[in-house]
Amino acid sequence: MKYSEYSVVVVGSGAAGLYAALKISQQINLPEGLLIITKSLLGESNSRYAQGGIVGVVHQNHADNVEAHVIDTLKAGAGLSERRTAEYISRASDEVINDLIDCGVNFDRDSKGNLNFTLEAAHSIKRILHSGGDATGKGITDALCRAVMNDENINIAEQAMAVELLVNAEKECKGVILYNELTGEHEIVYTSALILATGGCGQLYKFTTNPEGATGDGLALAYNAGAELQDMEFIQFHPTALALSPKNKNRFLISEAVRGEGAKLINNNGAEFMYRYSDKRELAPRDIVTRAIYSEMNKEHASNVFLNASMIDGMKLFERFPTISRKCKENGIDISHNPIPVAPAAHYTMGGIKATVEGCTNIKGLYAIGECASTGLHGANRLASNSLLECVVCAYELADYLSFANLTTPHKIDESIKNTINVYSNPISEEDYDTDNLKQHLKDIMWDCAGIVRNEIDLKRAEVEINKLKHEFKRDKKCLNKDEYEYRNMLTISSLIVRAAILRKESRGAHCRSDYSVTNTEAVHSSIIKQEERLLSNVV
Ligand SMILES: Cc1cc2nc3c(=O)[nH]c(=O)nc-3n(C[C@H](O)[C@H](O)[C@H](O)COP(=O)(O)OP(=O)(O)OC[C@H]3O[C@@H](n4cnc5c(N)ncnc54)[C@H](O)[C@@H]3O)c2cc1C
Repeated sequence: MKYSEYSVVVVGSGAAGLYAALKISQQINLPEGLLIITKSLLGESNSRYAQGGIVGVVHQNHADNVEAHVIDTLKAGAGLSERRTAEYISRASDEVINDLIDCGVNFDRDSKGNLNFTLEAAHSIKRILHSGGDATGKGITDALCRAVMNDENINIAEQAMAVELLVNAEKECKGVILYNELTGEHEIVYTSALILATGGCGQLYKFTTNPEGATGDGLALAYNAGAELQDMEFIQFHPTALALSPKNKNRFLISEAVRGEGAKLINNNGAEFMYRYSDKRELAPRDIVTRAIYSEMNKEHASNVFLNASMIDGMKLFERFPTISRKCKENGIDISHNPIPVAPAAHYTMGGIKATVEGCTNIKGLYAIGECASTGLHGANRLASNSLLECVVCAYELADYLSFANLTTPHKIDESIKNTINVYSNPISEEDYDTDNLKQHLKDIMWDCAGIVRNEIDLKRAEVEINKLKHEFKRDKKCLNKDEYEYRNMLTISSLIVRAAILRKESRGAHCRSDYSVTNTEAVHSSIIKQEERLLSNVV
C-alpha cells in the first residue's frame, strides 16, 4: 500500500480542522509538514452552513462578561456542563475571535464600524457575532480556506476519507488508513499527531439540518481504536428546520436568531403556544422549544407548526437574514408576509470523544476537537452559537499544546498496526449493498425510537433492529466505497447512542424519557469505551 509521513495530520476541514491546521502551521516548525484529509472538498462541512453566529465575549462588548456567559451555558446544559470548561472557553474567546478577524473573517458591523452583537435563545445578553447576516459559517470557512490554501506547510487531500486509526498495543496513535475516493485505493499516513475534527452525526436521523457528510465517522474511528466516548445520548434537535413536506429530509435551518429578532411560533390554528411551555417563550433553551413544537404537532396530527416573522420590518428581515429569506422565497414563501412551516430536526451531537480543551484524548497522539469532541462544555443541551466558539478555541489551544510536543514521525510500528494494514491490503467480497436504502432504514429507526422523546421499549426495539442490520452487513473493517464506510460508521454510532440512552434512566436537557421524566439530583456523565459502558460519577 502507498504510504506517506507527516508531522501532523488533521482529519476534517470545518472550522475546527481548518483553524487548527492554520494555527499549528503558524506556530510550530513542522519538518514533515501537515496534511489535511477531508472526505469531500476543502471547507465542505457543517461549519459552512452555520447561520446565526458565534459567541464572542470580547472586549469590544462592554455590556458582557465571562461570568454571564458561563451562567447561560451552565443553565442551558441542564446541570451537565462543566463550569471549568465553560470558563476556560469563554475567557479565551476574546483573543481567539480577534485572531479570526486578523485571519480575514469579516463579522458584521454597524455604520460606525463597531461589531454588531445579536441575541439568541437562552442568552441573557446580546453577544452573538455574525457574518454576511445569516451566513456566519460561510464567512468563517471561506476565510480559513483561503488562509490554509496560501500556507505552504499545509498539504490537502480532498475526497480522502479516514477509515481506521493505527493504534499500537501501547495505546499510541501512529497514523491513519485513508480511502482515496478518486483512485479507489487505500493508503497509509503515518504521523505523531492525529487530529480528529470530523464533526457530528446528524445524518443518523431521518430529519436533520446537517449536510450529508455528518455521519459520525470520527466518533466511530475513535471508538474502534479504544478512545473513551462521553454523553452520546445527548443529541440536540433544533426546533425550527424548514419543513416543506414530510418527504424533504435534509432540512434547511431557520436560525434561532429569527426568534431572537421577535418571530413567534404558531400552531396550525394560527395560535401562539410557547407561553404554555416556558416563561421565556420562543427564547427558551432549544430542548424546551423542540418538545413544545413536538407536542403541538402530535396534538394536531400535523407534520409542522409555523414561524411567523411578519411583525418584523420586511427590509430588516431581508438585510439580517438574506440566506433564509432567499431560500424561503425560492419555495414560494415571502417571510415578511407568510408564516414559515417549521419542525424539529437532528442538529448537533453534544457528546463525543472525551477530550480536554486542548483536544487530548485517552490515546497518546490522538486529539479530538470541535463537534466530534466532548469537552463537557455543552452538557445535556448546547447553548446557541457556543459550538463554533468551542471549535476555534480548542483548535487554538491544541496548537499551543502541540508547540511543546515531540512531533517526530513514528517508526514504532508493532504487530497490531501491521495486522490492521494487512486487512486493508487484502481483497474483500464484492457483495452488493444498497447503502442508500440501508442508511434510510437506519435513520427511520433512529428517528422513531431514539428521537426527541424516548422510552425503554422503543430504545430496546432500536437495539434489536440495529443489531440485525449489523449482522446483515458483513463489513466491520474494510469496505468497497465511501458509502459503505459511512454506513458502517453510522451503525456503530447508532448503537452507542441507543445504549447510552437506555442507560440514562432520567430526563435531562435533550435526553427526554417518557418513562423516566424526572431529572436525577446527581448529574453524571455517561461513558463508553469498547466493551465497557458506565455512568460516571458527579460532574465537577
Ligand atoms: C445548518 C447548521 C447551522 C448551524 N448554525 C450554527 C451557528 O449559528 N452557530 C454555532 O455555533 N453553531 C452552529 N451550528 C453547529 C456548528 O456549525 C458545528 O457544530 C460546527 O461547525 C462543527 O465544526 P467542526 O469543524 O467540528 O465539524 P464540521 O464543520 O462538521 O467539519 C467536519 C469535517 O470533517 C470531514 N470529515 C468527516 N468525516 C471524515 C472522514 N472520515 N475522513 C475525512 N474527513 C472527514 C467533513 O467532510 C468536514 O470537512 C450549525 C450547524 C448546522 C448544521
